[in-house]
Amino acid sequence: MFKRISYIIALQFTLFVFVLFMVNGAIFLAADFSNARRQSQARLQRTLQDVITIRNINGQMPPHLRDRVRIVDDAWTPLYAGGFFDEIPLERIAGLSRINIHNEQYSILTAPITVDAEVRGYIQVADVERFQRSDLPLRALLYLFVSAAISLLTFIVGLFFARSSLQPAERMMKQLEQFTQDASHELRTPLTMLNSSLDLALKNEKYKEGILSAKEDVKQVSELVERLLDFTRIDALTIGRASLDMSLLVDQTIEKYQLLAKERGITIEKNIAQNIRVNGDMSLLRQMIGNLLSNAIKYNNDNGTITVSLTKHKLKVEDSGIGIDAQNVPHIFDRFYQVDASRSKGGVGLGLAFTKKIVELHGWRIAVASNKGKGTTFTVSLNS
Ligand code: ADP
Repeated sequence: MFKRISYIIALQFTLFVFVLFMVNGAIFLAADFSNARRQSQARLQRTLQDVITIRNINGQMPPHLRDRVRIVDDAWTPLYAGGFFDEIPLERIAGLSRINIHNEQYSILTAPITVDAEVRGYIQVADVERFQRSDLPLRALLYLFVSAAISLLTFIVGLFFARSSLQPAERMMKQLEQFTQDASHELRTPLTMLNSSLDLALKNEKYKEGILSAKEDVKQVSELVERLLDFTRIDALTIGRASLDMSLLVDQTIEKYQLLAKERGITIEKNIAQNIRVNGDMSLLRQMIGNLLSNAIKYNNDNGTITVSLTKHKLKVEDSGIGIDAQNVPHIFDRFYQVDASRSKGGVGLGLAFTKKIVELHGWRIAVASNKGKGTTFTVSLNS
């Protein structure tokens, strides 16, 4: 689809350039034509002036002028005709006129010769037109050829630019398609389970258990929909940017999770440098820290430990939990990826993907290091 759009954009652009060039060519030709005519008229006028002046001085004309002059008496009987006029028929004309001989255009200027305010004859000067009308098709063809060549170049360059401009949109579209597919797939499982719970309740007539089980499934669907919405709602344009105290934010978030940790005898150790300020979105960053902490609790052993440290450049969440297999580590930030769904306690495999998205939208990076059976460390580099 994007290929077709690129072609259409490039074609439209090319058509525009082609028309522009043709219009430009037509204007240029017309201007050239009228300019050549004006110049030839001025030249004739000058020649006529020269002829009259020279004749007045010594009655002689230099050879280059002599050839282009014809003199007639008042009855239009030729008195003198230069070589140029061999082919030009004698006609009673006045002022400027044009004549076509053997497909060549001549311009002729005729002026009366007056003596004591009485017309005694006429003098004609002639010149070949510099811009011949017969040249017009050839020149137009040349313009057409140049325009076509430039248009072809425009099409190639236009196609290249259209393709490269549309690439991010294409990538986004593919991601969106993939996301929709993944989401529909993930929603199907709890919905099937919901259906089975209700079927079973109808069959066994154990309505209370059926409804309770169905409520659990509905809760999972809601959780999934909620996470999906979180995921789709944020992008570079929607996140807020404010200078905030990261030290305070980390500390406050840890406090929120203390109770959950205590329930399983987990100790959270803090190693937080004070007054670390970052530029970011407060509620998203709270979610990011919360996700890492809740995973560190969820995937920890009872009575385990979690160490949270913050420096100017790094936020680290380290746990002494179950760890992740080396083969699973590369997929840990993928959407809907869960190493062991039964341990994720209602999780849907979107927490880390969302965390990564938040980190990247802030221009930061996140990395994971894990030792199966020993623990996992998530490190967020706070430098853009
Ligand atoms: P979930 O909703 O399943 O917790 P997450 O995206 O938060 O989804 O995490 C994806 C998977 O990564 C989890 O299912 C779990 O297997 C693994 N995981 C995440 N954090 C940890 C951790 N601290 N220790 C061990 N495994 C973890």
